Amino acid sequence: MTSGDIALFAWNDYVGVTRCRGIPAGLVPNRLETGLGWAVASQALTPFGDIAPNPWGPTSEVRQVPVKDSAVRVDIWPDAPAFHMYLCDSKNADGTDWDCCTRAFMRHAMDDLRSETGLEFMAAFEHEFLLQSDGLPEAAPFSVEAMRNAALFTSDLCRALEEAGLDPETIEPEYGIRQYEVTVAPAVGPAAGDRAIIARELIREVARRRGMRACFSPKPTLLGVGNGSHVHFSLVDSEGRNATFDQHEPTGTSKVAQHFLGGILRHIHALTALTAPSPVSYLRLGPQHWSCGYASFGIQNREAALRVCPSTESDPAKRARGFNVEFRPPDPTASPYIVLGALIRAGLEGIRDELPLPATCEGDPAELTEEERSALGITPLAASFAEALSAFEMDPVARSWMPPQMLESYLSVKRTELEITRSMSPEAVCELYASVY
Ligand code: GLU
Ligand code: MG
Repeated sequence: MTSGDIALFAWNDYVGVTRCRGIPAGLVPNRLETGLGWAVASQALTPFGDIAPNPWGPTSEVRQVPVKDSAVRVDIWPDAPAFHMYLCDSKNADGTDWDCCTRAFMRHAMDDLRSETGLEFMAAFEHEFLLQSDGLPEAAPFSVEAMRNAALFTSDLCRALEEAGLDPETIEPEYGIRQYEVTVAPAVGPAAGDRAIIARELIREVARRRGMRACFSPKPTLLGVGNGSHVHFSLVDSEGRNATFDQHEPTGTSKVAQHFLGGILRHIHALTALTAPSPVSYLRLGPQHWSCGYASFGIQNREAALRVCPSTESDPAKRARGFNVEFRPPDPTASPYIVLGALIRAGLEGIRDELPLPATCEGDPAELTEEERSALGITPLAASFAEALSAFEMDPVARSWMPPQMLESYLSVKRTELEITRSMSPEAVCELYASVY
């Protein structure tokens, strides 16, 4: 540790923004147990700095307590200080979890899944973003040219992710102009959410150090390509086996996974509000953009909200391990903690009620007739955030996933966000969100 090294105590809030306090790194040991105080009215921040109506007063405070395992220190820049960060749990003064802590929302869902089923949740996010830079020329989608134009950035990023212990798996050009995508290895338990937040912040940091900006808005421009934040997940049993996979089942999904997916589909309209949680999200979400526009289930189907991803390994053990399911609606305006917590909650409802696997959608659901879709139980996802939010509010089971104060304050922030954007043109909404995410 060198002098001038500042450790950030950070948390990811309702609007998916990672906020922080900072201390000289040498003081971290003194703060590991008690963390730092934080005025909770800030949990009512919209992405734009407005504070939504909330139940907290000037004396309401929580402790931001660092999670030791989440520590990252990346020191790869000759001309800039290390990126040093801990993610935090928000705790009450007596050490219990604060009801409105997004990380606790995820952890409690994981705890309930484990205690009711013996299963752990494993997940990884796909990070799509645009690189904003005057010096970065346009290049063809997925091209070597697009990759090499950004080679200094991608190489720094690879180093940064490795140094952070995030095990990068892919770093590549995407379809959109100056759009790139990064994935890191999946993790089991809360680390899955932590990794997504750390990866996003490191992508931003590496871009910043190269004089660029990484833009994660779901729809940076109205006519451009959207940025998703798809989640790949599987269930892991106590022996570390992939409990999502059963080679004897026609879809490859085990019985417990079938119930889990049934739960996700049953609550998908509420889930959409929590995982594509902004007005701008609905400029991305929609049929025939591979972002998905329908509540459907399919094998390798990129227009399905739930896409089974079978492994192509020939070794049976590796094939079983690699099998996973992708949930495609999420975008980067959602907190990864809320995304994972809500997915697990929905899946757990399905396990409790032993729900059946939804019908398999073979092709693009948009190309089916109304009758064909209804025969398969396929419904359109919400067309606007207002619609999605009321679907969440009308699902009493989904509402019960959040403690009452979290529900009330979360809805207040989201309604305020709706209000702020209500009379804006879609172009202005894109511009506003692109300036923040
Ligand atoms: N960019 C698309 C989205 O908004 C996803 C493209 C892909 O399949 O990777 O979700
Ligand atoms: Mg992609």
